[in-house]
Amino acid sequence: MSTYSLRLADRELPYQLERSSRRRSIGLKITADGLTVILPARAPLKEAERAIESKLKWILAKLATPMIAPTALAVGCSVLWQGQPKFVQRCAGRTRLDEGVLYVAEQTPLPAALTRFYQRSAKSYFLQRLAHWSEAMGLQPRQLFLSSAKSRWGSCTALGDIRLNWRLMQAPPQVIDYVVIHELAHLAELNHSARFWAIVASACPDWKTHRLWLKQNGAKLFAW
Ligand SMILES: [Zn+2]
Repeated sequence: MSTYSLRLADRELPYQLERSSRRRSIGLKITADGLTVILPARAPLKEAERAIESKLKWILAKLATPMIAPTALAVGCSVLWQGQPKFVQRCAGRTRLDEGVLYVAEQTPLPAALTRFYQRSAKSYFLQRLAHWSEAMGLQPRQLFLSSAKSRWGSCTALGDIRLNWRLMQAPPQVIDYVVIHELAHLAELNHSARFWAIVASACPDWKTHRLWLKQNGAKLFAW
């Protein structure tokens, strides 16, 4: 198997090429490692490119679906960033986000580089959202901590310390806001009483939709 890439209008699309003497037609498959094109033994490379181009819409849609297995983290896969799928590609410089592509610095293992990037971004983004909602709701937290909890999105202590899971950076902005609002509301009510939910609802009328999103998509956000 060898790696090639096809230049698209806005990015490089890497793919693996496999030759099969048993095949007469071209096969395409998307796995955790990205796109693989299976060519009949003697078919020219041009045919692989033609096959990709003719199925491009399908391929991009498949690649954009976040994969659940941790092994799915590979160049060419996509990860969620504030609710949007971003392609993972390698680059020479710093890990950075550029439109639809998340460029990850070479020489750092993917999971470590991505985790670090998400955590770094989470801290400043959460602080900003916390400041916004803190003022809007008139509730002042003591301190923000980033959490890596395995199953919780956030928590709030009686002292007013708020913890938010960096993995939330994968969720849509409205969902992140809901969790921020939820934890801030605990500064007034350290329980899940009707009074608590009334405070949440006053800042976030659609809280039920956002909570449902987390229920339905939460497992995906813990994939790596
Ligand atoms: Zn709660």
